[in-house]
Amino acid sequence: MREPAVKEFKPSVCPLDCPDTCSLSVGVSDDQVVQVRGSQANPYTAGAICEKVAKYYPEFVHGDYRLTRPLKRVGPRGSGEFEPISWDEALDRIHRGLSRAIDEFGPQSVLPLNYAGPHGQISGGSMDRRFFHQLGASLLDRGPLCGVVRGTAYTSLFGNAPGMPPEQITQADVIAVWGNNVTVSNLHLARVIKSAREKDALLIVVDPKRTRIAEQAHLYIQIKPGTDVVLALGLAAELERLDAFDNRFIERWVEGVDPFMHEARKYTVSDVLGICGINQQQFEQLAEIYAGAKRLALSIGNGIERGHSGGSSLRAIMSLNALTGQLGRVGAGIFAKPGLAFPLTPEKLQRPDLIPAGTRTLNIVDVGRHLLDEHLDPPIKAVFIYNHNPVCTHPDQNRMRRGLGREDLFVVGADIVMTDSMAYADVVLPACSHFEFDDIYAAYGQSYLQRAEPVIPPVGESLPNTEIFRRLAARFGFEDPIFLETDAQLMDAAVDADDPRLNGYRPSELALDRALLMNTQDEEAILMCNTVEPATASGKIELYSDELEQGFGYGVPRYEAVESHLPLMLISPSSSKRTNATFGSDAASQLTEMIEIHPDDADARGINDRQRVRLWNELGEVELTARVNDSVAPGVVYSPKGTWLNTSSTGQTVNALISADLKTDIMNGACYNDTYVDCAPLESAV
Ligand code: SF4
Repeated sequence: MREPAVKEFKPSVCPLDCPDTCSLSVGVSDDQVVQVRGSQANPYTAGAICEKVAKYYPEFVHGDYRLTRPLKRVGPRGSGEFEPISWDEALDRIHRGLSRAIDEFGPQSVLPLNYAGPHGQISGGSMDRRFFHQLGASLLDRGPLCGVVRGTAYTSLFGNAPGMPPEQITQADVIAVWGNNVTVSNLHLARVIKSAREKDALLIVVDPKRTRIAEQAHLYIQIKPGTDVVLALGLAAELERLDAFDNRFIERWVEGVDPFMHEARKYTVSDVLGICGINQQQFEQLAEIYAGAKRLALSIGNGIERGHSGGSSLRAIMSLNALTGQLGRVGAGIFAKPGLAFPLTPEKLQRPDLIPAGTRTLNIVDVGRHLLDEHLDPPIKAVFIYNHNPVCTHPDQNRMRRGLGREDLFVVGADIVMTDSMAYADVVLPACSHFEFDDIYAAYGQSYLQRAEPVIPPVGESLPNTEIFRRLAARFGFEDPIFLETDAQLMDAAVDADDPRLNGYRPSELALDRALLMNTQDEEAILMCNTVEPATASGKIELYSDELEQGFGYGVPRYEAVESHLPLMLISPSSSKRTNATFGSDAASQLTEMIEIHPDDADARGINDRQRVRLWNELGEVELTARVNDSVAPGVVYSPKGTWLNTSSTGQTVNALISADLKTDIMNGACYNDTYVDCAPLESAV
């Protein structure tokens, strides 16, 4: 079908859970989004966007899956049978359902179940948080699903001081890309790396999968998933032996070297080779490049945090820059947490002061278990799912579905499209896409503050999240004027308007055609251990963390192997077709997903290329299409995350195979990559 001709291009910003937060130019015709492309408003993203957003967004906004009216469930829970109702009736039903739970079991029996659907400041968490805080609902610790392990690993070393902005990587002579599939998950970094390589920078890639960026590397190390901490500690010990530490830098900026190195020296080179599955030549070459680097830039991906030793791995890898003095100069640094440069004011926006004292906090990874826990006190009796598709993104999918399937549970859902999670709701609310409301955007992979206005009116009867919760607050009789604040007022509450970098503009009035660079407040480039300093208690980079020792027993990084009786380790990173589960309804994602398997493992199981296979363990079973190649090592299989249930004849996705009970060493995060499975041709699977 030919798309209608664009009548007008309007500025916008991509809200998806992606570090790049591209500025967009949206082609509109008769209140329809018909084309999405990059714009020049953000100098970092500079006109380039990923294929999935360009290809799938118009269909996502206007396609068959779009929710346009409130719905009530009329069939069995999860069956997807609904009838339209009015907004008034929907709000009444929600009021009744939540009130019933509160009257019988107290407000903490209500659980908001939201994550990072849109990354706009006000759609991501503003009026909704105020509402649930005022209600006294259980609090949800969202970070363990993704992000908090990486973030805490960084802040344990550097405090809340921003890391290197990506643009500075162009000045590096060595770039280490460690566990970051930049082509899929950090698109514009690929361009930065290309520019550095044109100036003869050396590229090192460490990744269990031979990604596209790995194919361009001078040194590619195909590491066994979850063992990065051993490689980093072993490398630290080797660099010490090579006299490659920067003692002057350490003296000025680093604390905790002795306990760190005590742990590092435990690993002999042969330990490292055996545990990480790499060869001696690679290890020696890696040490040589680290030792000889003048300006080494490190990019670390989120994949590393998805294993039990993830926090330790991230801390050990980042510590290498500290030990070798690879910080404080343009091109030498760690590309992590540039977003800490934004002057955000979440207390003003989300009003945590409204939370009743003693309110419990539940780990998001444990929600499936809690839903089925008869002894949880108070029990969860009502769940409000929004900005999230838990069925397709949480570990232990089958347990989550059993939990959401409880007949005594009241489930509310709000989303842009009808997802596998919305199918469990008693009442479904149609939410606006970000093309239909105002918002202000920070970023977690670059340093530009951006604002966007709607480019089309709300589709059907859909409403922005802010308005949904404004109406709910009114329905619950919340009289405080904070529940009447407009979206402009919420944007002004999201960002500190007094910050000099805003040049006197109110956040809600920032220009739409220009992104605002967040340098230091003195307008200097962010340079850790130079223009910014570690914001730790000691003012130094802390290789030993007292807080992580007290909280988790990991003052220094440490390796703990995860064993299984099953032979294959499944990794399930990002897909080029979806952002997490977003766009999972697009035709391109509604096919049987593929699994990459090494020829040795395929031969041993009689699996041919493109053959249908089943992948299973004690938690579930998934149908996939085998792609036999050596992009993964023997013993490792790879299948992209974010598929929807109808892509497998078993009605399950790879998330069904992932344990929700195994947690990361620090912060109790999800261990997506510590998943062991077996695989067989479809017809002979057991
Ligand atoms: S998903 Fe990422 S790369 Fe793609 S348009 Fe959005 S911000 Fe840019």
